[in-house]
Amino acid sequence: MEWCVSVPKIELHAHLNGSIRDSTLLDLARALGDKGLIDFSQVEHVILKRLSPIYTHFCVLKLEFDYGYLNTDNRSLSEVFKLFDLIHIVTTDHSSITRITKEVVEDFASENVVYLELRTTPKKNDSLGMSKRSYVEAVLEGLRAVSSVDVAFIPNSEEPVNLSSTLLSDASDKCNGNTRKKIFVRLLLSIDRRETTEAAMETVMLALEMRRFGVVGIDLSGNPAVGEWITYLPALMFARQQGLYVTLHCGEVSNSKEIHNMLDFLPQRIGHACFFEEEHWRKLKSSNIPVEICLTSNIRTLSVPTIDAHHFVDLYNAKHPLVLCTDDSGVFSTSLSNEYKIAASTFGLGQKEMFELSKNSIEFIFADDVVKEVLRKTFDSAAKSLT
Ligand code: IMP
Repeated sequence: MEWCVSVPKIELHAHLNGSIRDSTLLDLARALGDKGLIDFSQVEHVILKRLSPIYTHFCVLKLEFDYGYLNTDNRSLSEVFKLFDLIHIVTTDHSSITRITKEVVEDFASENVVYLELRTTPKKNDSLGMSKRSYVEAVLEGLRAVSSVDVAFIPNSEEPVNLSSTLLSDASDKCNGNTRKKIFVRLLLSIDRRETTEAAMETVMLALEMRRFGVVGIDLSGNPAVGEWITYLPALMFARQQGLYVTLHCGEVSNSKEIHNMLDFLPQRIGHACFFEEEHWRKLKSSNIPVEICLTSNIRTLSVPTIDAHHFVDLYNAKHPLVLCTDDSGVFSTSLSNEYKIAASTFGLGQKEMFELSKNSIEFIFADDVVKEVLRKTFDSAAKSLT
């Protein structure tokens, strides 16, 4: 595991609210409990993922949520989305979003993630005075608030150059007696599959407006049992026309027509690809679309039968572009280092192969060539110290 922590890594599929620390979720839930807005004692068990099964039924802000049977070890995909509804109740206010962003970046940096693409769904909540724009501003505030590591998130400024010197500096580089980590961060704005075409378009417009603050693309995510491809297509096409990158959650459930439609769209990356059939694999491989692989997430949502049967193996052997990712490190109690460890031990990959896998991910990031070049150098210098 130690080596998997030490090796520089690239994270390209991490949902902000899914990456929240358990301790933070507990803090925020306790605060709502203190205000009498939720019954903390019932929510606590779900957060701690201890009791299985558990029946959770509680009242929040006059809305009634019935979480039924929340299996905390392996949660089916639909159970996971109920859990996200709960998390959002606890996390969706400006200061909480700022705090979570700061902590998530610190957590990834602490395990030597040197480039992070963080995705989140901009949310509107009139009762909190929150618009999609103010939500994203709260995320940016979180990036600015990170002080324990060096964060570069503004493109085309002098910061990549500064960061390049710090990224390339000796690993024992000290500041105030502490070794400082360095990380590039870029943002993707997610369209939730529950949204209308207009709402999806609003998110794309916001992404365009926020490009100068490091928003580089659009993600389509949310409960795959909900919504129709045709609803999001106009917004996704517009995003692409405007030069935003697009990544799609694809094949999380069996939906052959949608998978074909998504692959025909030729997104720059897709996530998951669990329920693919022969024709889909053929199309994917001929189009060379990189796949964001989320091993623990796929196992825990029962999207693949066993880890040995995971499509990672076939794609890896076919030399198809792929990148290991966490998806929701908080919800699934994992980390990127852990995903590397699982891949290495399950598929029999040595350090050389794992290092190459990590380094190759640079080619699939949604940042510019300057950043890519800095990252390549970072990996080259790490190769020397790791051998
Ligand atoms: P947020 O966008 O920062 O609020 O992160 C949580 C959200 O990401 C969830 O409510 C879902 O919309 C989305 N999400 C997280 N994990 C998954 C997944 O495995 N499949 C599809 N959507 C997901």
